[in-house]
Amino acid sequence: MFFSEDFIHYIWKFRLFNRDNLQTTTGENLEVFSAGLPNSDSGPDFHNARIRVGDTTWAGNVEIHINSSDWHRHGHTNDNAYKNVILHVVYRDDEPIVLPDGRQLPTLELKERIPDDLYNRYHRLIYGTQQFIPCEGSIRSVDDMTLRNWLTRVLVERLEKRSATVTAALAKNKGDWEETFYQFLAAQFGFKTNALPFELLAKSLPQLTLAKHKNNPSQIEALIFGQAGFLEDEFQDEYPNKLKEEHNFLRKKYNLVPIEKHLWKFMRMRPQNFPTIRLAQFAALIVRSNHLFSKMIEIRDVTQLRELFTRLEINPYWDTHYRFDAESKASSKALGQSSIDILLLNTFALFLFCYGKHNQQEYFINRSLKLLEKLPAEQNNIVTNFDSVGISVNTAFDSQALLELKNSYCSHKKCLQCGVGNKILRTT
Ligand code: SF4
Repeated sequence: MFFSEDFIHYIWKFRLFNRDNLQTTTGENLEVFSAGLPNSDSGPDFHNARIRVGDTTWAGNVEIHINSSDWHRHGHTNDNAYKNVILHVVYRDDEPIVLPDGRQLPTLELKERIPDDLYNRYHRLIYGTQQFIPCEGSIRSVDDMTLRNWLTRVLVERLEKRSATVTAALAKNKGDWEETFYQFLAAQFGFKTNALPFELLAKSLPQLTLAKHKNNPSQIEALIFGQAGFLEDEFQDEYPNKLKEEHNFLRKKYNLVPIEKHLWKFMRMRPQNFPTIRLAQFAALIVRSNHLFSKMIEIRDVTQLRELFTRLEINPYWDTHYRFDAESKASSKALGQSSIDILLLNTFALFLFCYGKHNQQEYFINRSLKLLEKLPAEQNNIVTNFDSVGISVNTAFDSQALLELKNSYCSHKKCLQCGVGNKILRTT
């Protein structure tokens, strides 16, 4: 047999071994009332188990190993954290464990008690030769309710992990949700490639400063392009020269320090996504509305949310330019619907969730999940592969959950900790 200790852990947790005439290795009758609670910290594998050995009922910890001699190999002999272990559960009893007080540690050997069909399913799952994910041949056999419940759970895990970065930023911004949202939204405008300079730009230019100029679009553009470091050059066109003049005045007034222009990347990028175009769109969004988070949180309808980002009034200079001083064929530089949906998905849905968690208001958490259900799925390799193994991916709820499932579970073969894996292993 070939398996990891996790498998024994799993068998004990769900008591999947043959429990007929259960005895310890010294021949005492054994009854398991409760397997205990798995412990993810250091120390014994399960806490608060309840068992009876012979005539004595015990409550305490359970330690799991493949071989009983692992007790010594793992250095538990004189470790106080293990002194309340009431049962040693092992695959093979290759050595009796005598405790410092002279007692023999009660041990349950599972070698002859693991059902063959369970082992065979486990082996196929973990040691098979699948291309995409270990359960690609059997995931479709899992019922929709199990799959949906599990996807909801991993999606919440994903949002909780991502919320940690929002919470850290929120603390730095002294609890200011608007400022924090503005910084995250800016980073999203940069896609992955220019997320960092966009974020640095937002941090160099507080939203409150922009709010003072909300009725003057050219000053907003000057502040944004200037702080992005794009107005340090000499220009021929009138538009950048005007912005430069404006920025020189405003940077002194507010004591602003622009970021370095070299941080921005244009390489291997469609001109439509050049940072200059994204900055022009961002400026138009700021002109249209400040205090965006407060505004968005009042809107429940996804169409109305999209409208906040639709038909932004981008300076007409950009109709015929992708960069300063370089004229090009006229084209629309409006934000496309898929870009708007990605902004809603990665920023607003995350903030709704985080806001709900922070304020312990389930209402916002549910709204976040509902918003993801209304947005379309992203297109990427992971989504395509899940689709090809028979999992339909219709909404951002599905795609985000599957992304988390693949990256945090399937890629690490954490099938024993997975709701889908559990179902596959236990379906006879
Ligand atoms: S972690 Fe779950 S979904 Fe992923 S391969 Fe294993 S059983 Fe399947």
